[in-house]
Amino acid sequence: MNKVLDKKYPYLSNFLKTAIEQNRLFHSIILYGSNNYIKYAMAMEMARLLNCLEDGREDCSCQNCRWIRENKHPAVMTISKIDNKTDSSKTVISEDQVNMVLDTLVNSSDYHRVFIFCDAEFKTLSCSEMQEYNEFISVGFNMPQEKDEDKYWLPKGINTGCFSTVAANAMLKSIEEPSDKVTFIFLTNNKDDILQTIVSRSQAFYVADSKTSLYNVAFFEKYFEQYPDFNKDYALDFAQTLYNYQTENDIEPSYIIDCIQYYLAQLLKANINNSLLVRKIYNDIEKTEKSKKMLNAYIKEQTVYENLAFYFSK
Ligand SMILES: [Zn+2]
Repeated sequence: MNKVLDKKYPYLSNFLKTAIEQNRLFHSIILYGSNNYIKYAMAMEMARLLNCLEDGREDCSCQNCRWIRENKHPAVMTISKIDNKTDSSKTVISEDQVNMVLDTLVNSSDYHRVFIFCDAEFKTLSCSEMQEYNEFISVGFNMPQEKDEDKYWLPKGINTGCFSTVAANAMLKSIEEPSDKVTFIFLTNNKDDILQTIVSRSQAFYVADSKTSLYNVAFFEKYFEQYPDFNKDYALDFAQTLYNYQTENDIEPSYIIDCIQYYLAQLLKANINNSLLVRKIYNDIEKTEKSKKMLNAYIKEQTVYENLAFYFSK
C-alpha cells in the first residue's frame, strides 16, 4: 500500500493489497476501530489501488492516483452528512444521497467506483486528533474539504444515528447484487453501529488503534511451538485460552482471529522458501477467514474457537 500503512498495519495492508490484485475483494467493506483518519486513509488507499493505471506503487503519478490523492476523482466519493449532499439535511446521510449513489451506478464506467460512507464534521482538533491528522497528511491524501478557518474536516465512524435504517436499507440490494467495479466502504468505530444486514454481507477489518500494540500473539504462541504439528490434547485448552483472553480483555472475537492471522502471516514470511509449509500456512489462513465468517453469522465464539482448534490439530 504505502509505507505508513504498511508499517502500522502490515497484515491488513498486505491482505487488502493481495485481495485487490487477485480481484477477490468483497464489494462491501467495513473498516472498524477508533482511529478516524487512519481508517479514512486506508479507504482512500484501497480506492487508489483499485483505480491505479500502473502498478499501484506508492509514488505512482498516473491520472487516477493523482486525482485520488487530491480527493478530486470523479469515481471516488466520500458520503457523509456534510459531503456530497443532495438535499438540505444536516445531521444524516439521507435516503436522497443514497439514491444519488445508486443512480450513478446505472451508467457503466471505466473507473472502479468507490463510495466511502462515514460521519464527518469540522472541528478544532484535539492534540491526539492533530497527531492522527498529521499522520494522514503524511500518507499523501487531501481531505474531501479544505480546512475552514481553524477547523479541520474530521472523518468519524458511522452509526445508525447518522446513517438511518431507511437509508442503509436502500443500499442493500446494491450490496447483494453489486455491479462490477463498485466498492462500498463503511467506516465505523464498532461493527454494532452498522445495520446487521450490511455487516453480514460485508468483509469487516479491524483497524487497530495506533496507541495500542497492534497484534498480541503472546497469549497463544506456545500452542504453535511445534507448528505445523499442533498437539491434539491441547486443542480444547487452546480454544479456552482464546475465549478467556477475549472476555478478560473485553475485545472483539474477530480481533482474536486477526491476531492468529498476523501470527500465521509472520510464519509465512519466515518460511517463504518452504513451499510445502507455505501451502499449509495459506490453508490455515483461509480457515481463519472462515472463522471470521462464522463469527459474522453469530455462531458462538467458543464454538468458532473450538472448530479452529480441532482444524489445527487434525
Ligand atoms: Zn497509479
